[in-house]
Amino acid sequence: MIEQERIMTTQETIDLFDKYVIANYSRLERVIVKGEGCYLYDADGNKILDMFPGWAVSGIGHCHPKVVEAIQKQAGQLLHIDNTFYSEPQGKLAKLLSERAFGGKCFFCNSGAEANEAALKLARLHTTQEKYKFITAEGSFHGRTFATLTATAQPKHHEGFLPLLPGFVYVPFNDVAALESAFSDEVAAVMVEPIQGEGGINIATAEYMEAIRRLCDENGALMILDEVQTGIGRTGKWFGYQHFDVEPDIITMAKTLGGGTAIGAMMAKEEVAASLIPGKHASTFGGNALACAAAIAVIETIEENNLLENASQLGQYTKDKLGRLKQKHYIIDNVRGIGLMIGVQLTSPGAGIVDKCLEKGLRINCTCDSVLRFMPPMIATKDQIDQAVDILDSVLSDSA
Ligand SMILES: *Cc1c(COP(=O)(O)O)cnc(C)c1O
Repeated sequence: MIEQERIMTTQETIDLFDKYVIANYSRLERVIVKGEGCYLYDADGNKILDMFPGWAVSGIGHCHPKVVEAIQKQAGQLLHIDNTFYSEPQGKLAKLLSERAFGGKCFFCNSGAEANEAALKLARLHTTQEKYKFITAEGSFHGRTFATLTATAQPKHHEGFLPLLPGFVYVPFNDVAALESAFSDEVAAVMVEPIQGEGGINIATAEYMEAIRRLCDENGALMILDEVQTGIGRTGKWFGYQHFDVEPDIITMAKTLGGGTAIGAMMAKEEVAASLIPGKHASTFGGNALACAAAIAVIETIEENNLLENASQLGQYTKDKLGRLKQKHYIIDNVRGIGLMIGVQLTSPGAGIVDKCLEKGLRINCTCDSVLRFMPPMIATKDQIDQAVDILDSVLSDSA
């Protein structure tokens, strides 16, 4: 019998990891064997309500039937074809994305970091050689490749990797004056998230977004928005920037886009996109038929089921419910977010709370030490939100 065909115990799987998998993650002692909608199932038969599905990847829930069906259908037809040829799913997906953003053109890759990497390279190509600087915001997260790690303005992620790439300038988030003084005609682009995710759910102000646009225009620089976490409906609109009165030159996306398959995309305004000519950038797997078919199904599912609307309404409902917990639990300082991207700022570290919630069957996340992240899938119901908030409520009561 082939080893994988029998269900292993939790310990057997962990033993395999200990022996053969590099230990660069701190993992919870659970082996997940199945995902369905808002739920995960582990190898010990526990059912977990998932309010942080796939680290914000499974935005329409785990194994959405429509996505699974699209993958099965595409798998029987064509899995991967390199970019020497044309393929239908890639073209169709680009059209769907373009129509839901600012009418730009797309480049496909396989992750958020790669999408940002492409955006940074394109900004260098599109502007003049003297322009080599990038401005990014403190608390940002843009990925783990060398350029995107450098763009990530958080010293803890830089430790052990100095010197980083030259030309990156960091400014405090939402500080217009600091942005203004960091600008020069050497700046190729500003890259920010409309809502910082890993940085603790920090929402850009309208004034800040408009200042980025204005300063980029005045200095011949590009405005890049990292929508890897905010994109594809998470905030109740297709893209986070659509909550503001600005149009960026480039957006990047990944996470929710593939419905659980690995895909990233960069979209640029047509005149900017024109600078990315053959030979300047590429990805072997980028835009493969399987991932593109899955992403098309994600977009169609969001549209057919009015999930943007649900993300807005359910997001407000969740924020209100969590906000009410604040009156009861002094450990909650404030609750903030847009749509289904919600942070609960605690007055002390939250890792222990996350562990206790998991013991009671709820998965949430903690970032920046003391911000609990609730990022339910867009298919979640009020009942599921009620259950989640009740579990958090009881955990906070137990630990008070
Ligand atoms: C997750 C994330 C990334 C990195 O995406 P990967 O797919 O892990 O490379 C980049 N930017 C933001 C805003 C993210 O949330």
